[in-house]
Formats: sequence, C-alpha cells, structure tokens
Amino acid sequence: MEDKIKEAADFLKHSRFTTAFTGAGISVESGIPSFRGNGGLWEKYDPKILDLQHFLNDPAGSWVVIKQIFYDFFGMAKPNAAHLILARMEKEGMLGRTITQNIDNLHQEAGTTIISEFHGNSKKLTCLICHRDYHAGHISLDHFPPTCIECGGILKPGFVFFGEAIPQLPLAEAYEAASLSDVVLIIGTTGEVMPANQIPFIAKEFGATIIEINPEPSAYTDRITDIFLQGKAAGIMLKLEKQLFPAPLNDDQDRVD
Ligand code: NAD
Repeated sequence: MEDKIKEAADFLKHSRFTTAFTGAGISVESGIPSFRGNGGLWEKYDPKILDLQHFLNDPAGSWVVIKQIFYDFFGMAKPNAAHLILARMEKEGMLGRTITQNIDNLHQEAGTTIISEFHGNSKKLTCLICHRDYHAGHISLDHFPPTCIECGGILKPGFVFFGEAIPQLPLAEAYEAASLSDVVLIIGTTGEVMPANQIPFIAKEFGATIIEINPEPSAYTDRITDIFLQGKAAGIMLKLEKQLFPAPLNDDQDRVD
C-alpha cells in the first residue's frame, strides 16, 4: 500500500489539472451513511421519498421523512480529514475542481471553493412557484411543508430528486474538468448513478490517470482505475497528505479522522 500511495502522490504532484470526484463514501466517516450497502439509508427508508412525483403528490408527508434524514441528521455532520485535505489541495494549487454527487455541503464547510454539485445541496430550499432560494437555516421546519415567505409556494429541498434534471452549470463544469484533467481522484462512490458516473470515464478517454479510494471495488475499479487505494477515505487521504505536503495541515478546524 505504501508504494501505491507514493505512486499516487507522484501523479498528483506532477498533474497540471486534477479533478476530485466524490460520492457518499467520503462523508461516511463524518457520520452520514451512504445510500447503498451495509448500514445504507435504503435499508431504513424507501427510496421513493426522493422521487419528485411522490414529493409533489404529498409534500407534507415527504417533508416529515426528508427533515429527519437530511436536516436533523445530516445537519450535525462535520467535514472529516478527507474533505479537509481536498480543500488544502485546492488551496495549494494541487486540485483544479471538486465534482461531488453529495448534497451535504461538507466540501464547502471544509474550505473547498471550486466545486460542482451534481445533485444540488440540501442547505438550499427553493420555492416551487417563484423559484426563490432560501438558506435552510433561515426557514422553520416545524410545520410541513415549509412555504415561501414571498408567495406562499411550497419549498422543495435544493437537491436533485429522482426524475429531475441535473442542473446545467455543474454539468458543463464537470464535462470541462473531465476533458482537462491529467488526474482524476475518485473517492467513495459506487459509480452507479447516471449521468454523474460518466465523468471519470470521459476523463479516461481524454487520457487522465485514475486514482481511486474506496474500501470496496466500484464500477470503475476493474475498468478504468490505474491506482486503487483500498481503504476508507480519511485514513488514505491522511497518508496521501504526508506524501504531498511536508508540513501538517495548519488551521484551527477540528479534524474528524
Ligand atoms: P453510494 O451510496 O451508492 O455508495 C457509497 C460508496 O462509498 C460505496 O462504493 C462504498 O464502498 C463507499 N464507502 C463506504 N464507506 C467509505 C469510506 N469510509 N470511505 C470511502 N468510501 C466509502 O453512493 P454514491 O455512489 O455517491 O451515489 C449515490 C447517491 O447518493 C449520490 O447521488 C449522492 O447524491 C447520494 N448521497 C449523498 C450523501 C451525502 O450527501 N453525504 C449520502 C448518501 C447518498
């Protein structure tokens, strides 16, 4: 493993443009379960709660469950070492863009600024009628469904539901990053969710080296991954950090390793 970490670090150090592509696995060590697999959210909840038509048919009932998962529970999570090290890589010019499928805002809380959110962000609520956006923290979630202060329309979480289109801007940013990348660092994704899962494949076609971190093989591992760092995101990223930077992270944020 040490040799593979060194090899991965060498690619990252010499890359002109690196993209990080992250999924639910990067936030597992922050206490947020993934959707699939052991302990995943779909063991406890029915995926239909994220179906747009289901939400539109019963916004109040949907909001009861959505609040439990995405606001009461996700709201407590803090970035872990993997989020923080990606933010450090960006700050030190070693990471061109982070593309995330996550909706938990933890990359931004860690300090990442160049980010494309494929599936939106749970911290934003949007009015279905006038499309005004609100920060979730500014809206009371005591009564369901929450409504727009301006027009009274129902507020929908700012993440992409099943049956909803991917926002145009992150899509365009992600395709551009894929075509520019010398290296793609994939962290914690099964690679099963379309169309986000295409980004590493596109980058590979443009000649990128693919480095992947995951405790389990994914849809990428046997097909396009050049260096598979098998393990949990935070632990592997801490080892990579030691190779990438001579000095330890120097900021006052708590690290959840
Ligand atoms: P997924 O649930 O399908 O798969 C999670 C992946 O993470 C698996 O490959 C698993 O082996 C890996 N993993 C588990 N623990 C890990 C760890 N400690 N370190 C690194 N990897 C680990 O997730 P997905 O592929 O991202 O796609 C599902 C969809 O789920 C995405 O669209 C995303 O929007 C959504 N989602 C987001 C969050 C979040 O925002 N944190 C949480 C759950 C699901």
